[in-house]
Amino acid sequence: MTPDEIDIRKEMIATCLKMNGAGLNVGTAGNLSVRLRGGYLVTPTGVDYELMQPEQIVAMDFGDRYYGDFYPTSEWRFHSAILKARPDANVVLHSHALYCAMLASCRMDIPALHYGIAGVGDDHIRCSGYAPFGTPELSVEVLKALEHRHACLLGNHGVIVLGKTIPKTFQFLQEVEFLAHRLHRHADARQRRDSFAGPDARRAGTLQDLWQAARRVPALRRTA
Ligand SMILES: [Zn+2]
Repeated sequence: MTPDEIDIRKEMIATCLKMNGAGLNVGTAGNLSVRLRGGYLVTPTGVDYELMQPEQIVAMDFGDRYYGDFYPTSEWRFHSAILKARPDANVVLHSHALYCAMLASCRMDIPALHYGIAGVGDDHIRCSGYAPFGTPELSVEVLKALEHRHACLLGNHGVIVLGKTIPKTFQFLQEVEFLAHRLHRHADARQRRDSFAGPDARRAGTLQDLWQAARRVPALRRTA
């Protein structure tokens, strides 16, 4: 193991701890992978981030073989599929962030409700179809939802973000959870307002209505 690889492993653990400390994940859920020459590093299954050691991070190749004494996360398949299909990404981060997971449970996309979406999602961030965790079918759904994008919600599950570096990818996760939170609070505010309005003014302030309204806004395009 080279000194550079040891540093990457330490940075992966620090990022998982930061993710949980920032309220962007819960417990041992979530996982992180980083591309290496000929393969990638991925977090192990069932190890508490507080106790995780650099040598427990698992090295895998693109033939789906793992090396060392620790098993990779049970969700390694979509990490492998993304890193194979998306040469523009070196890092894949998955979490069960609260507001992303809430929208994913409703199978809702995140519309262009804030300019920050341009950095991660073209005109909107898609929610994938559902497939059980760890299955090849889930990888297919994820790749479809990520097409032309650096983030997607994972149907009835959580969120995935991609990036070139670990810090940039973590920043994407923060931004997507911010957008998901904002969408939820928009709908909540509309529902509160409408509860005080007269019958003629009252409109259904549902998340789905907000999504439909946002779709009528001209699409945003990435500029970089
Ligand atoms: Zn998960």
